[in-house]
Amino acid sequence: MSNELNFNIEEELHEECGVLGIYDFDGGDVASTIYYGLFALQHRGQESCGIAVSDTEGPKGKVSAHKGMGLCNEVFTPEVLEGLHGNIGVGHVRYSTAGSSTRENAQPLVLNYVKGTLAMAHNGNLVNAPELRRELEYSGAIFQTTIDSEVIAYHVARERVKTPSVEAAVANAMKKIVGAYSLVVMSPRKLIGARDPYGFKPLCIGKRDNSYIIVSESCALDTIGAEFVRDVLPGEIVTITKDGIASDTSLCFKERSREARCVFEYIYFARPDSVFDGVSVYHSRLCAGRALAVDSPVEADVVVGVPESGNAAALGYSLQSGIPYGTAFVKNSYVGRTFIKPKQSYRESSVRIKLNVLKEAVVGKRVIMIDDSIVRGTTSALIVNMLREAGAKEVHVRISAPPFLHPCYFGTDIPDEDQLIAHNRSIDEIRDLLGADSLSYLNIDRLNEMAEGLPICTACFSGNYPIEPPKEDIRGEYSR
Ligand code: SF4
Repeated sequence: MSNELNFNIEEELHEECGVLGIYDFDGGDVASTIYYGLFALQHRGQESCGIAVSDTEGPKGKVSAHKGMGLCNEVFTPEVLEGLHGNIGVGHVRYSTAGSSTRENAQPLVLNYVKGTLAMAHNGNLVNAPELRRELEYSGAIFQTTIDSEVIAYHVARERVKTPSVEAAVANAMKKIVGAYSLVVMSPRKLIGARDPYGFKPLCIGKRDNSYIIVSESCALDTIGAEFVRDVLPGEIVTITKDGIASDTSLCFKERSREARCVFEYIYFARPDSVFDGVSVYHSRLCAGRALAVDSPVEADVVVGVPESGNAAALGYSLQSGIPYGTAFVKNSYVGRTFIKPKQSYRESSVRIKLNVLKEAVVGKRVIMIDDSIVRGTTSALIVNMLREAGAKEVHVRISAPPFLHPCYFGTDIPDEDQLIAHNRSIDEIRDLLGADSLSYLNIDRLNEMAEGLPICTACFSGNYPIEPPKEDIRGEYSR
């Protein structure tokens, strides 16, 4: 086990995707609303994005779509949006975990088949995608992409030929696919949302005037001026037609304890202004900070959060401990996908370019620095050092998650175990590598409090997988 950190590696964890579907019963164009909604979901994926729209009163099977590599404001121009006509549509933002980062793999997927056209956007990873893909290939299917979502789309299209409705086809496909998925599906006359029975990824329903929206996170509803209606239940299929919302809960688990929401949505992925299954993401981060203050107290002059997701936890720590909350970091928000990464020397790292320390906030002070996670440790070590260079007298690191010890197969690109700083190291060894005065992680038992008792997945921390891990490695290139 090396006792040096390699600064020439990427540190941030990535979410796989964000999805959004909308149906305007009054017949208005929906492309620009999807665009603004995707903008609010941009944190869930920055590699590619896309929109597909159709007209429910027009000829069946006519879909206009545009997708490309980059952020929403790079892929969509006013001219592109003006050319997308239709009152029903789906949109997607993507970061690749399974399937490489290419334009072909961008979503929504649009599939033409005997019953018309299907457009679909998906968030999550299937654990049985390789078997299902092989099965389809042996029966003659030719895949255009390398992503799991196409496996789902093919299954839905095949089932549709044998079933009376597209929602019944989605239900039949869901009996075969195993893993994490929140889906939005557009058929010529219907908008469908579906969530896997474990409920790994969020999905909720909103309403604005005479439009219904199905979206990954509730923050996007606020952005487009829609009201929150409810979450899609784990295992539920909702079908939106002019008659309203129909619900099929036949695939929901009878024992709710089998559900397994990704707790990392609360810790890091989701925006703090989102509410996921009735639990406010902001509140759960405050709660983690309070728990850290109770379990791992230390005397200090100021508590600071590493932006963005460390901020709410730092406030929670401050409220619980009475130690003043401060702002120590200024973030440069203009570091986009096309930013030329420095050939990482310690002095000129991506971290320093993204983050700077406010010297007067920390000089001569004992600082408690709260971050959401430590993956390989490189970023945390750099930030600790930046605080010291700025004049902090002591730096105490508190992490609002337990140590990462295991890979994720459900859509989060956690690296191999031997690359995780907590693998085979004691807390003292990790503290030494970070150069901190003290280090504590969130106690794993506190995760249930963060999620207010909802059944959660904690596999990357505990090794208790809600679904047996796949035999072959299904994770993306980054993870391996
Ligand atoms: S293993 Fe971790 S990151 Fe993956 S779904 Fe479970 S809690 Fe989320």
